[in-house]
Amino acid sequence: MILLLDVLPSVCPHDCPSACALEVERIDGNRIGRVHGARSQSYTAGVVCAKVARYAERQHHPDRLWQPLRRVGDKGVGRAAFAPISWDAALDEVAEGLTRAAQRHGAQAVWPYYYSGTMGLVQRDGINRLRHAMGYSREDLTICSMLTATGWAAGVGARRGVDGREMAKSDLIVVWGGNPVSTQINVMTHVAIARRERGAKLVVVDPYRTASAAAADLHLALLPGTDGALACAVMHILFKEGYADRQYMARYADDPAGLEAHLAARDPEWAAAITGLSEAAIVDFARLYGGARRSYIRVGYGFSRSRNGSAQLFAVTCLPTVTGAWQYEGGGALQSNHGLVALDHTLIEGLDVLDPATRILDQSRIGPVLMGDRRDLGDGPPVTALFIQNTNPMVVAPESGLVRQGFARDDLFTCVHEQFMTETAAMADIVLPATTFLEHDDFYTAGAHTYLQLSRAILPPQGECRSNHDVVCGLARRLGARHPGFAMTPLELIDHTLRASGLPSVAEFPANGWLDCGQPFATAHFLDGFGHADKKFHFRADWAALGHDHARLPSFPDHVAVTDDGDPARPFRLVAAPSRSFLNTSFNNTPSGIAREGRPTALVHPAVLAGLGIADGERVRIGNGKGNVVVHARAFDGLQQRVVIVEGVWPNHAFEEGIGINLLTSADPGSPRGGAVFHDTSVWLRPA
Ligand code: SF4
Repeated sequence: MILLLDVLPSVCPHDCPSACALEVERIDGNRIGRVHGARSQSYTAGVVCAKVARYAERQHHPDRLWQPLRRVGDKGVGRAAFAPISWDAALDEVAEGLTRAAQRHGAQAVWPYYYSGTMGLVQRDGINRLRHAMGYSREDLTICSMLTATGWAAGVGARRGVDGREMAKSDLIVVWGGNPVSTQINVMTHVAIARRERGAKLVVVDPYRTASAAAADLHLALLPGTDGALACAVMHILFKEGYADRQYMARYADDPAGLEAHLAARDPEWAAAITGLSEAAIVDFARLYGGARRSYIRVGYGFSRSRNGSAQLFAVTCLPTVTGAWQYEGGGALQSNHGLVALDHTLIEGLDVLDPATRILDQSRIGPVLMGDRRDLGDGPPVTALFIQNTNPMVVAPESGLVRQGFARDDLFTCVHEQFMTETAAMADIVLPATTFLEHDDFYTAGAHTYLQLSRAILPPQGECRSNHDVVCGLARRLGARHPGFAMTPLELIDHTLRASGLPSVAEFPANGWLDCGQPFATAHFLDGFGHADKKFHFRADWAALGHDHARLPSFPDHVAVTDDGDPARPFRLVAAPSRSFLNTSFNNTPSGIAREGRPTALVHPAVLAGLGIADGERVRIGNGKGNVVVHARAFDGLQQRVVIVEGVWPNHAFEEGIGINLLTSADPGSPRGGAVFHDTSVWLRPA
């Protein structure tokens, strides 16, 4: 038999900064083979991660949902508790469920809930058009990037940074609070060029020896939640030992003299006591950083997932301003470039019909919200209906004991539109089968690079699967929601959005699908000013302008001691870090990923294990006031003794007692504007 093989362009839609340009092998027009990185897209540069290279495992997984389902058995059981129904019957039932909730308690009793299962702007954000047209409760998108965005805004004032491709021109690259070898491999492509061609050094700041840290020239394994102290002590040395570029700061910063005076007491001895690092390590790092003109900080998400996360991130962004590294090619910093392209989101999200009086509920606090916490609901109605796309809150949301109780409520109507029977879908009344990115059209901005990318469907929908856009429009028709966007195709929405944003239309878009929106050097490096009205970088953060919870945040960068720093009963600091093979929960059911990751595992210092009488590989119970879980322990010396790492995110059912690591994490909002604090958890350890 002759197979017809062609190779088609696409874009990775997953929640990863790289947004890789892909070349997908298509077989006989209806299956895929290997997935490759596009060589000629200069950030992807021919490289993708292993999980997407093997996307066929996910695309053609035998557990893909392919028809609408109605729950006929108990919540939480899974596929056996559901029976197939037609699309018309399913959408009618969902519309009835949402209407019933709105009639009983008002429209705000309905909460459309989504996140970044796809980063495509049409298929991800179209749910907001339905929300705004119907007056349903709004959603505060805090679970991932709120703390980073707020911290970056405090100093830089614009949500963009120096082009990631410039890492290849750097003499020193600092990966701060990230593990690109596991979570965005393309960073390492550009780091490798700098090392090969310039002899550049790589420093990794992370609480444990990740694969990225193991590949670095210097690894600083600090305690979680203490990065602000490290940044302050580094700046102390930069000022003291003549590495500060006073001329640059006089022109581009608001108060360098005030910062220098503030840092006088924040020396390496002070920071060593907070971070658990040695004074010598802090000084060595400061000299390495100060001695490199072209130093580039790739700012990760990890160290922002803490109650003081925005303050920590802000402190790190001050470093290139003190040395003036922003002014050099290969110098500066990048957290995210999602703000680089000024897209007009009005049509896709229905911003023209948004009523600003509608309440906003914090997505990270879905547990307290569903359990009726008045801090979240105010004097508004309870949430009695959920319509969920692109996320799996039963597993990924913090404080999952509360989340589970909330979803179990008898009076809650839930519809989940998904690709798999996730643990959230298993709690739904109606489950609708969703297309993957290979089966629908969309366009994508990126965190790590400067391209706006357009991607067309290359496979027919599996079974009866429908896209998020189709489902939103189908519900809009039944609910009587009015907006021009409900009558448009995804490609028409993209075309109108591009034109409204002053960008090339679909017809004018580059044939390869990648529009490089990179800026001229002076703009990209903030030489024509930072994002604040005075065009300066702000060493004095105006936290009050960024969020209501600002009282405990000092204006100058500092260590902000508001973390859950434990007590004698909970002496260990838990970090629930991302694994290499999973991406949130998107790949935690593929055979190769499960085989590589093994089982839920805690990395624990050998001396701690010995003290607890637990051998390498034995079971350990990890707990705090929210509950406890059992995992297997692995002796690991690449961290401080107080630190425990559990990589994931594993499904709840992978844990012995059926609930996963987020049972232990808190739904407390980070300061000043909210944000999930996944890596800010104190726990005890016991033999299981
Ligand atoms: S590295 Fe990130 S963007 Fe690239 S293929 Fe993997 S998950 Fe997708």
